[in-house]
Parts: sequence; structure tokens; C-alpha cells
Amino acid sequence: MGKVFFHCALIFCAAIIFMSSPAQAEDVPFTDKFILWTEHRDELIDEYTLKHYGMICREIIPQAVVVHWTAFGTLESNWKFFYAEEMPDDEGRLNVASQFIVDRDGTILRLMPETKFARHIIGYNHCAIGIENVGGYNGREDLTEAQLAANVRLIKWLHEKYPTIKYVFGHYQQGKARASGLFIENVPGYYAIKTDPGPKFMRGLREELEGDGLIFYDE
Ligand SMILES: [Zn+2]
Repeated sequence: MGKVFFHCALIFCAAIIFMSSPAQAEDVPFTDKFILWTEHRDELIDEYTLKHYGMICREIIPQAVVVHWTAFGTLESNWKFFYAEEMPDDEGRLNVASQFIVDRDGTILRLMPETKFARHIIGYNHCAIGIENVGGYNGREDLTEAQLAANVRLIKWLHEKYPTIKYVFGHYQQGKARASGLFIENVPGYYAIKTDPGPKFMRGLREELEGDGLIFYDE
């Protein structure tokens, strides 16, 4: 019996009519600095999403925002790392990436159109927009007030543009977020323990955003 793969982009067109109009250009809280995107990245995405989610998923309908820290480097060094299509130490598989990255001074870069697929969290990439924050060196909760304000601004902007977004959680809350029903992972044992971006930062986001009808998880 042949396998039938659900194509997540098929319902994208249907969902888009529920989305409000894009914000005006002057409201956009980020600047674009896109990473490399050729047909090869699309092929690697097809391979990854078929293997892990049982579907082709080049475009996502955002239902969650996942917040990260980079744990190392600068804005520039992290951008260079995400630029490559293939993961350097992973036998030519899809590189990790994130739709957004926030520098320590609150500068936000968009690395790709926000509905493009990015590999940033096991189990949720098919429906989650990722925000990386430069910091978390040696696992310390060192993200700045400017980064918190920038994340609040960006998540408000995203939520307004995509009312399909219901959840905001930190990478370390990936287990609790299974209560959302969004988690999919077809490869047994494929899992990584995470601590980013720490409970302090998520508490700050929750205080600013929970009133907007977004769902957060306990620390
Ligand atoms: Zn992370």
C-alpha cells in the first residue's frame, strides 16, 4: 500500500484568508538579512520534513513561537553559521536555522520569510517560528532588557499578522508544550535536552504578552 503524505502547504492558502493584512512597513520591527536559499535547501527541507514529520513542509502555518538563545558567538558569527544550507557535521543534512535573530542591543534580523521552514526545535518546526537571541553564554541567563523588549515587539507583530499563533514557549519547555498537541516526531529517540532561553526570560515575556491571548507554560 502506497503512503500518502500530507502536504502542509496545501492548507496554507485556506488559512491565509484568516490572517489580517500585513502591518505597514514602518511598523515592521526588523530588517532583512537573508541566509542562502537555493533549490538545494528546499530539497534538504523535503528530506527532513518527510523523515521527521511524514509530510513535505516548505511553508508553515505559524501556530507557535519558540524562543532560543544561541549560547555562543555574536550576531555576525551566528548569521554566518545559519547561512549555510547544510549542517557542517551532520553528513550533508539540513542545517539548523531560525526565522529571526535578536542581537544583545535589541536589533532584530529576519533571516528568511517567516513562513519558510526552519530547523530550530525537534518536533515543532512544521508549525513554529523561531527567535534566536544572542547570548546564554555558558548556560547563564544573561539575555538583556533590550532583547526582552525586542522579543515582545516582534511577537506582538507576528501575532497580529498571524492570528493562527496560539503558543509561545522557550526551547527548554519543549516537553510541557506537548500539551498543545502540536508535537510530531517520527524518529524514535530523536530528542535533545535544552535549557534555552531560561525561565527568567520566559517569565518576562509572559508578563508582557499573556494578556494578548497567547498561551504560555509554567516555568
Ligand atoms: Zn534552542
